[in-house]
This record gives sequence, C-alpha cells and structure tokens, in this order.
Amino acid sequence: MLKKLFVAISLLVIILMGIVFFNTLRTKPWPSHKALEMEALPDSAIVHMSQAIQIATISPEDTSHIDTVHFDQFRTFLEKAYPLVHQHLTRTLIKNYSYVFEWKGTDSSLLPFILMGHYDVVPVEASAVKLWTAKPFGGEVKDSIIWGRGSVDDKSNVISILEATEALLQKGFTPKRTILLCFGHNEESTGTGAIEIVKYLKSKNIKADLVLDEGGEISTDKIKDVKRPIAMIGVAEKGYVTFELSVEKTGGHSSIPAKETAIDILTKALYKLRNKPTPSSLQTPVREFLARSSGSSETFVNKLAMSNLWLFQFAVKKILSYTPEGDAMQRTTIVPTILESGVRENVIPTNARAVVNSRIITGETTKQVQDFIVNAIDDERVKIKIIGDFNTEPSAATDINSPAFKMMEEAVYKTVDDAIPVPFIMLGATDSRVYREISNGVVNFAPLVDSKGYHGIDERLPIKDFQRFFNFITIIIKESDKKL
Ligand SMILES: [Zn+2]
Repeated sequence: MLKKLFVAISLLVIILMGIVFFNTLRTKPWPSHKALEMEALPDSAIVHMSQAIQIATISPEDTSHIDTVHFDQFRTFLEKAYPLVHQHLTRTLIKNYSYVFEWKGTDSSLLPFILMGHYDVVPVEASAVKLWTAKPFGGEVKDSIIWGRGSVDDKSNVISILEATEALLQKGFTPKRTILLCFGHNEESTGTGAIEIVKYLKSKNIKADLVLDEGGEISTDKIKDVKRPIAMIGVAEKGYVTFELSVEKTGGHSSIPAKETAIDILTKALYKLRNKPTPSSLQTPVREFLARSSGSSETFVNKLAMSNLWLFQFAVKKILSYTPEGDAMQRTTIVPTILESGVRENVIPTNARAVVNSRIITGETTKQVQDFIVNAIDDERVKIKIIGDFNTEPSAATDINSPAFKMMEEAVYKTVDDAIPVPFIMLGATDSRVYREISNGVVNFAPLVDSKGYHGIDERLPIKDFQRFFNFITIIIKESDKKL
C-alpha cells in the first residue's frame, strides 16, 4: 500500500515538474522592435523648457492663496513661446489658471484624444536648496541635462506636448481627430483644476478614446534580471483614504502615571496595525506585467516562477514584498503619517491622535480597509474616523486590449528600442483619475528613462529624454488619424 502511494506521489511530482519546465521553456521573450529614427528636437524647445522651469509655479496648499504673479507669467510665456498653438487652437481658461486647448479635427466621427499634464510644481524646502547641484528654479542646462523643479514633474509633459503641437502646425499638419490639450494648475495640491476641466468637457458632451497623462515611465532597473527597457503603462490607480485614530484618557501629573496612558494605547494600536499585513493578491495588470517580462528574465529560477504563477504565486509575492514598490503593487498599504500628543514634558496628555493614510488596491474598498484597521487594533478605546478631502475608491482599470493601450504599445515600439510595454497599477494619484468619467482609455505614461529627483533633490531632465518625449507625442498626434 505504502509503495503504491509512493509511486503515485512520485508520478505526480514528475508530471508537475514536466508542466513547470514545459511552461518555462515555452515562455519566449516579448517580441523585439526597432525604434524609428528620432526627429530632431527644435533648438528653441530647450530654451522654452528652461524658461518654463524658471517660472516658479508652485502649487499652493490653500488654493485661495495662489501666487498669481507666477501663474500669470506662465500664461504670457506660453503665448510667446507657442504662437501657432494660440493661433490655431481654441483656448479655454478653467478656474482661471487651468487650460483646455482644442485642436479641431476634420472628422467629427472620431472621438477626441486628450493629452494632459500639469504645470504646477511642488516647492523646494529652504533647507534643501544647498543640496541641489543647480539652482532649483534656475533652469540651467549643463552636461546635456536640464536642471530644476518641474523638469520632470510635470513640465516635461506640458512642454513636450506644446512643442510637438507647435512643430506639427509649422509643417501644416491638421488632425482628423480633435486633439485636446488639458493642463491643470494644481495637481500637486487639490486637483480642482482637473475636476473643473472634466466638468467643462462633460458640459460639452465630450468623450475621449484616449487620455494620456503622467505616471508610468521606462524602467531599466526595476526588475534586475530583465535587461530590456520596460515601458510601464499605468492602467489603474489605487484608491486613497485617510483615517484619524484617537484616544482620550484622563491625564495627570507625570510623576504619578497610570498603568496606561492615551499615548501608550495609541502607540500599541499603531504597532499592532503595522505588524498585521493586509491581504496580498496579484491583480490582472500585475500578472500581465510578470507574464510579459518573464520571457526575458535572465535568471532561470525567476523565469520558472513567473511562468508558473499557478504554482509559485506565493514565491513571486514573497519576492515582490522585498521592495516597498513591489509590495505596494500587491496589497493595500496603511501607514501612520502624523502623530500628535502632549503639550508639556511633565503633563500626561488626555488625548493622543494619529493620522493614517491608506492606498487601496484594485478590488478592495474603503469600508474593507476600515474593517481591517478595526480588527487589527482590536481596542475599542481607539476611535477611528475617516478624514480628508481626497478620499476615493480604487479606479477602474483600462483594458490592455483597448485601443488606447494598443496605441501606447505601438508608440512605445516606435520610440524605444527593444522595449517591453507592460500594464501596471499606479501607486500614487494623478489628475487623470477624474477623466475616467469621460473615457475608457485613460493611460499613464511618459517615455522618460528612470527619471530622477521629482518631488526631491536634483530634479532633472536629460535632453535625450526630452527629445524622446517630443517624438513620442508627435507619433501619437500623427497616428491619431487612425480609426481605433
Ligand atoms: Zn505630477
């Protein structure tokens, strides 16, 4: 009997190994493409990018205190730098500083393409200025790199779109399909510019086949053993919710502390919360990401695991969890961001408060996150409530078989040699989220390679990235004529 069982198990193992090896060997590298010769970037483009950086359009925390001088200056700059855009496209001001430029197409049966971006930037902390290689708002061009706040996020996008449009107008190009250029002025704070733009577009019954925004880029170092450039195209955004956790308990003099204080209770709760992992799952975009890159993996074990997710899902999840980005791709994240309590060193406070921010994975809801927190803490003395103005459920995902995604793939092949286009779930939030109301084709991508310094020190744009971006947008506008 035992012998029979042993034979059966051995057979099963052999069959399993056979399937695993068969799948691994069958997984071929993603097809390779040769990019088109790049068109020259107009000389003026570099000057314009530098000028755009020099106008410090810093996003105000409080939108009623917008720095009108710089935002007005930016408008004058746009009018001077892009005369043909202003002559041939219809400009509409939204909330005074956000823009919609309409480039009317000749065929009204085609739904518009929306190319979007934002020209506000995050501030540079005074204490960080000395750490920069160049002045943050100097727009310096040095070693074939344009330096400064906004050079990547997101003036690279706005300026590339405008340069490509101006250059095409110069050549007498008229699109068949209407192209809308939509630029928000407060993406880095409240994002109300984008919300109002979408309200305006809805009021005109405009729907779009493609909405292209910032978010994804080309990675050469995210998956170490894949030596080909990976074009990460955002197809969905995680949800966002902020909670307040608070504890109230009689305080008193610090010389006679009670066994547990409000601070003790709250910190214990946070400790429990941080030590309970949220459920992990490999969503469709993540699976597709792994499937497409697995064939080019140079490590046999990784290739074997990624080609056989049905068997090695647990191992792949484990590998993903080694980096914060990889881990955030497979689960809802929950992290304390503000901790407040106490006013004097010798007084035990009666109140302790923490703010906890969560980014919700596709397929889960705010309600589930709240239940998870309540269960993890398991202490009724900790009161939990939702706070904040930006809370949203996870977005729907753009289908990888949609015309919008196919369009991105084609443009990537034409711009980047040997690239593997993959879908991914965006971990942060962008303006494009609100555009899902008017389009099923929202994608987040810029052909920048491992961009550096955005929201941090030494934000910079290599000129060859700028040239690639310009070419990428030119291709999209030219090919917008195709029926999708
Ligand atoms: Zn941005």
